[in-house]
Amino acid sequence: MDRPNLHVYAADQALRARARAVIPGGMYGHQNAARLPEGFPQFLQRARGCRLFDVDGNEYIDFMCSYGPIILGHGHPEVDAAAARQQALADCQNAPSPRIVELAELLVDTIPHADWAMFEKNGTDATTKCVTIARAATGRRKILVASGSYHGSAPWCTPNLNGITAEDRAHLLQFTYNDIASVERAVDAAGDDLAGIIVTAFRHDNRVDQELPTPEFARRLRELCDRHDAALIIDDVRAGFRLHLGGSWEPLGVRPDLSAWSKAIANGYALAAVLGNERVREGATKIFATGSFWFAATSMAAAIATLTILREGKAIPAMERMGQIFRDGLAAQARSNGVRIRQSGPVQMPLLLFEDDPDFKKAARFTGEAAKRGAYLHPWHNMFLSAAHREADIREALEITDIAFAKVKQEFGAAA
Ligand code: PMP
Repeated sequence: MDRPNLHVYAADQALRARARAVIPGGMYGHQNAARLPEGFPQFLQRARGCRLFDVDGNEYIDFMCSYGPIILGHGHPEVDAAAARQQALADCQNAPSPRIVELAELLVDTIPHADWAMFEKNGTDATTKCVTIARAATGRRKILVASGSYHGSAPWCTPNLNGITAEDRAHLLQFTYNDIASVERAVDAAGDDLAGIIVTAFRHDNRVDQELPTPEFARRLRELCDRHDAALIIDDVRAGFRLHLGGSWEPLGVRPDLSAWSKAIANGYALAAVLGNERVREGATKIFATGSFWFAATSMAAAIATLTILREGKAIPAMERMGQIFRDGLAAQARSNGVRIRQSGPVQMPLLLFEDDPDFKKAARFTGEAAKRGAYLHPWHNMFLSAAHREADIREALEITDIAFAKVKQEFGAAA
């Protein structure tokens, strides 16, 4: 049975028109709704738990969690109360608050590879700082990166080359995720100038199936860094705290020298962290590291509250349970609607792609129809579950996706 599309977009349209005059392109980056299918709002008004409300009052079950930061649910009362208590004291001062020491202690206590912590605001700050520390610690220049991996929007790593010079990338060498031979070739090419290898927690590049690292790949990266006295850097910005509290490679038994964190560590408050071990501590003390808001205390108080809740150990299993129900439900619906799909990655960070969909037209139709009926999915980026998703939310979302699959079948017919 169809579920009526009751959404209206008048306020959203009016804001888009105003934005076009004063914001380049009307909006920039991946949060430009013009890059998403019709049916997605550009502007959101408020959020609670796993629900979003746009500026027209339309409601959505949220499967993006702000592209990762919301791990306990929007507006989590304990996190918000901790942030408000700190805000009442002060946020941004001439010097950091005691929260910076408390949070560093908590992170070092939670994450086995970490002996120290430094803080920033965004994931790009953290990955860039990891690369800088690796170079400062080794006195070398070459950094190995997996082609297609996203590490942020700075000139050294942005996927968009407009405004970027060849010099910005001069000391990067590419390898292929999970391809040991390609890493070995890049290590050889770096010669005696290898500063480090940066790698995402798992392969979560846009528009392609997600891939977990093989244990052999992870171990080989560690061995190569040890043999060449280079730094192994894990970019845990996206996956951090959703797979394992001790860092995403902890279950593989492979510990990095440096790790980059942001997104989920403060449940939506702006914070990033670089964690490191003793091998790179001196390098970290040598670099110039500062930002006007990097010492602000409110987000650190929020991170302490978030991590305290996560350490109770319930959030990851809850996300896994809900993610599995969602994945199983989607698979059954795709089958019964005669639509061929692929699902990949950890269930709490799921990706759904359609077979024979080179231009993502099926994905666009599917997610557009779902958005119009109140499920905020993504056509080609991995999605995110939070600990606020309950089974009733997943079941309601599945009612919507069943209709969206039927629409795909209707439009693309037998080819679906
Ligand atoms: N690394 C990874 C793996 C990411 O997913 C992201 C953000 N999507 C970043 C780095 C950059 O983080 P930010 O957008 O906060 O700068």
